[in-house]
Amino acid sequence: MSQQEGARQAASGLFVNASAPRRAAFERACAGLFAPLRMADGAEAALAMLAQQPADVLVLDLECCEIGIDLPALGQLLAGRAGRPVLVLCPFANARWLPALMAHGPLAYLITPLDPEALRQAVGARLRGGFAPAAEAEPAALLALLSQAQQALAAADEGIRFGERLCAAMLGWPGVVHAALFQRHAGDELRLEAQHGAAGLDLAAVLGRAERLLQSPLRHAFPGLLAAASGETVLLDAVDKAGEPQLAQALRDQGVDMVVGVPVPGSGPGGPRGALCLSFGQARALSLPHWSTLEDLAQLTAFGLRMAELMRENEELLGRVTQLATLDPLTGVANRRHGEYLMEQELRRARRYRTPLALIAFDIDRFRNVNDAYGHPVGDVVLRAVADTARGLLRSSDVLVRSGGEEFQVIAPHTSAIDGLRMAEKLRAAIEAAELPGCDHVTVSLGVAQLGEFESGDALAVRVGAALARAKRAGRNCVELAMQ
Ligand code: GH3
Ligand code: MG
Ligand code: MG
Repeated sequence: MSQQEGARQAASGLFVNASAPRRAAFERACAGLFAPLRMADGAEAALAMLAQQPADVLVLDLECCEIGIDLPALGQLLAGRAGRPVLVLCPFANARWLPALMAHGPLAYLITPLDPEALRQAVGARLRGGFAPAAEAEPAALLALLSQAQQALAAADEGIRFGERLCAAMLGWPGVVHAALFQRHAGDELRLEAQHGAAGLDLAAVLGRAERLLQSPLRHAFPGLLAAASGETVLLDAVDKAGEPQLAQALRDQGVDMVVGVPVPGSGPGGPRGALCLSFGQARALSLPHWSTLEDLAQLTAFGLRMAELMRENEELLGRVTQLATLDPLTGVANRRHGEYLMEQELRRARRYRTPLALIAFDIDRFRNVNDAYGHPVGDVVLRAVADTARGLLRSSDVLVRSGGEEFQVIAPHTSAIDGLRMAEKLRAAIEAAELPGCDHVTVSLGVAQLGEFESGDALAVRVGAALARAKRAGRNCVELAMQ
């Protein structure tokens, strides 16, 4: 045995964990690898022991630390190592502790759980092969990836398109074979929003569903789901460590051996907005630049999803405001102002394409009597029924406008005076025949006019009004064609 090997075998170790059973288990598995192996139950005790007698290797075991882990104190331990090796045992579901500790000093890590034999082998391999921290990040690839992810923000007006572009960008991560985005929706509903990557790998198939994923039996095991549920970064560097043999097999069958889940922060209190999920073909060590890229990606995703949400809300709001501004609230047809705007548009189109345009005006006959006899609310119902009857007869290109109290207009593109007359007669007959809830039938009088070659919209309205007045004078419930 060379002197060097002898020196390596004699490496002294200090193992730190608050749980006595954990300390005993490590001692059983690995004591033979160190000479000597000491035990500390916390950062403070470890500091005191190291001050008395330094250790070649410091082993920080983060298992069983979920409650009350003191990262700053552990960081202090790391900072004091002055280049001597530190090995961190980190539970796969608490991977965010790794970058938090890496900020204090270099470290090598093993992801747990590991059974005693695997643990002994992994620690032994580290003792033999060295404790060089995780491989250097590929800065150019990570920068390119982030810039592509930023470009995906241009598609943030639409959540799913943004998600797809983001996943495509994440495939630029060296070793990543598949990327996915999970998003939470109202009612604790988590969905697979987008995925991109290796042909044949469909997470919906692997997980058995693409929706209601927080209720999935795999929510404690699959990194994307666990990250979205717990808000913790999850690093499964070997798929069988999650304790779900079927899931591990399904992932391995698709060439995946490591999966990282990163929570996407929400904009307020409550759980995360979702999670990013990166699948790797084989286990790779993650260094500080990798972790900060993951963090940047998660922030960028949160921003993109929030933007998509705001855009959607804006559109809805705009739709509602437009409706309020353009529709008559009683009948749901265009109001007078919007009717004037639409008339101008149709008038210009008719002139440009030299197509006929007809305007029909109609007014309910003796409507005052309806109000007087049945009351105003019934009058309202009648107005709505008349509008519905008319609407039911019109083509989609025709516009029905409530131009006044019980007066309506129909703007009819591509319609000549003769066709307008036919249309008016149909309206008259249909309204006369319509069943009205709570009152007798009503009739309407109508005027029809075709737009003249040089006529303005106002002049057309005056002519059609005059025709309607003639229909009233002629005894009502009839149609009159306007003079040219
Ligand atoms: P004519 O055949 O000459 O048109 O007789 P008319 O009674 O219909 O005409 P007039 O213009 O004298 O009366 C219109 C009535 O329409 C008066 C008004 O109370 C009623 N009216 C206007 N807007 C509404 C409404 O929104 N709801 C109800 N219920 N009635 C309305
Ligand atoms: Mg009337
Ligand atoms: Mg009237």
